[in-house]
Amino acid sequence: MAKTFDVGIESLGSNGASQAAAQQAVGRQPAAGGLLPLPLRGATGGDGAVTPAASAGKSFFLETFGCQMNDHDSEKVAGVLQGRGYRAVESPAQADLVLYNTCSIREKAAQKVFARLGDWKTLADGKIIGVLGCLAQQEGEEIFERAPWVSLVCGSASYRKLPELIARLESGGRRVTGLDLDTDQTFETEITRRDNLLRAYITIIEGCDYACSYCVVPHTRGPERSRASDAVQAEARRLADAGYTEIQLLGQTVNSYRDPSPRGWKFVELLRAVAAVPGIRRVRFTTSHPNDFHREIVDAIDEVPELCDHVHLPVQSGSTRVLREMLRTYTREEYLQKIAWIRAAQRPISITSDIIVGFPGETEADFAETLSLLDAAQYDAIFSFKYSPRPNTSAMHMPDAIPEEEKSRRLAVLNERQRAIQIAANEKLVGQSYEVLVDGCHPARTQWGGRTSCNRLINFTSPHVNLLGEYVQVKVTRAGPNSFAGEHVT
Ligand code: SAM
Ligand code: SF4
Repeated sequence: MAKTFDVGIESLGSNGASQAAAQQAVGRQPAAGGLLPLPLRGATGGDGAVTPAASAGKSFFLETFGCQMNDHDSEKVAGVLQGRGYRAVESPAQADLVLYNTCSIREKAAQKVFARLGDWKTLADGKIIGVLGCLAQQEGEEIFERAPWVSLVCGSASYRKLPELIARLESGGRRVTGLDLDTDQTFETEITRRDNLLRAYITIIEGCDYACSYCVVPHTRGPERSRASDAVQAEARRLADAGYTEIQLLGQTVNSYRDPSPRGWKFVELLRAVAAVPGIRRVRFTTSHPNDFHREIVDAIDEVPELCDHVHLPVQSGSTRVLREMLRTYTREEYLQKIAWIRAAQRPISITSDIIVGFPGETEADFAETLSLLDAAQYDAIFSFKYSPRPNTSAMHMPDAIPEEEKSRRLAVLNERQRAIQIAANEKLVGQSYEVLVDGCHPARTQWGGRTSCNRLINFTSPHVNLLGEYVQVKVTRAGPNSFAGEHVT
């Protein structure tokens, strides 16, 4: 991530929300920093009856690592637990059941989880400690070897079995696992806890059928499974009835969606249908795979005002040679063609991307192509990563590893180039007005923050005393690389 100074945050006396700005550019939830986050909304239910409170009086603590898919999986896991009578607590020390929903996309993420598990070596007595998610799937029963105080290991492809696994632990089971990858169903819950008052996630596709040579996801999340379009529409309607106006459709490759029901809808058809749900004002989607990104998605954004002006389209590298080694299934030219479609849209659409530097064998010339791609694509923000070798991936044993210092150097050069692009582009937006959905405030300074349809963060002043959750017009008065300062246009 190109990390930079942010306008408006300085005046808030905090950098938390400023770092959040670029995260928010692809919709990841930020630390609130100087802006107060909104309170929890609670839960939304499905159509089914709630399981009786089998564990009334028991409590759980759930910590989430990683991406938005994990954030939303945790909302569903929390719903499953609440349906069984568990109550959420704020600290692991107070909890009967301590769960970590984990990430293993890069080595550092996995190390962090093991460090957290280590904390329980002498303290786990009487508690159930569980590991969920990607690291659970990747390490499997090895986790019991490394941390014998853990009793539950369950990968995301087996979350449907969670109620059964928890019931076995409740009736005295010592160790339980859910590690099957062959499930052909998605994870539906009777109750989903909603941790964000304004933006509700809906997973429309789970797993991944691509095989990018650096990536653990196909191994940890299993094969691609799409949800039936009527189930997605029904969830969108329930969310609108519960007062949500913004929905984010989720999937590792969200635009590879294929309706398994007889309707057989493509992604773009589902996108239009969700945007048509009465009460929904904004629909986002992430992450799009370039291979499945077709012009009809841009046409839909142009035609349907509820579809947000933002596409997250990870490129990974600007070099066709490296893309081939990564098994990304597109060339630099094909990718740039898709960027050209988006840039040709009738309304300006912001574009963000993920980039990996230091992939095995990446030469200076390859890296220079990634830098020149930044110039060509003119991204609004990027998430940048040093390549991290991962188990069960085909790149793991590739020759010509790039030394760690060189990866760091390339990362710094990349971020510097992107920062300059963002500064120049954002300056041009000073004076423009945007509709902002207000999602944070600093009451002492009557300062507010929120996002535009293109997911830019604007911190602004207003004479009004309560704007949380409102859509307001804000004029940009100053620009930083990752966020903006503005004034409420009243
Ligand atoms: N499905 C998305 C796509 O195809 O673009 C990506 C999902 S992945 C959870 C998020 C990002 O993590 C990827 O886009 C990639 O940039 C990065 N990533 C994945 N594996 C990595 C690795 N081994 N080392 C460094 N970054 C990695
Ligand atoms: Fe990983 Fe590639 Fe699948 Fe994205 S498309 S989740 S990077 S394997």
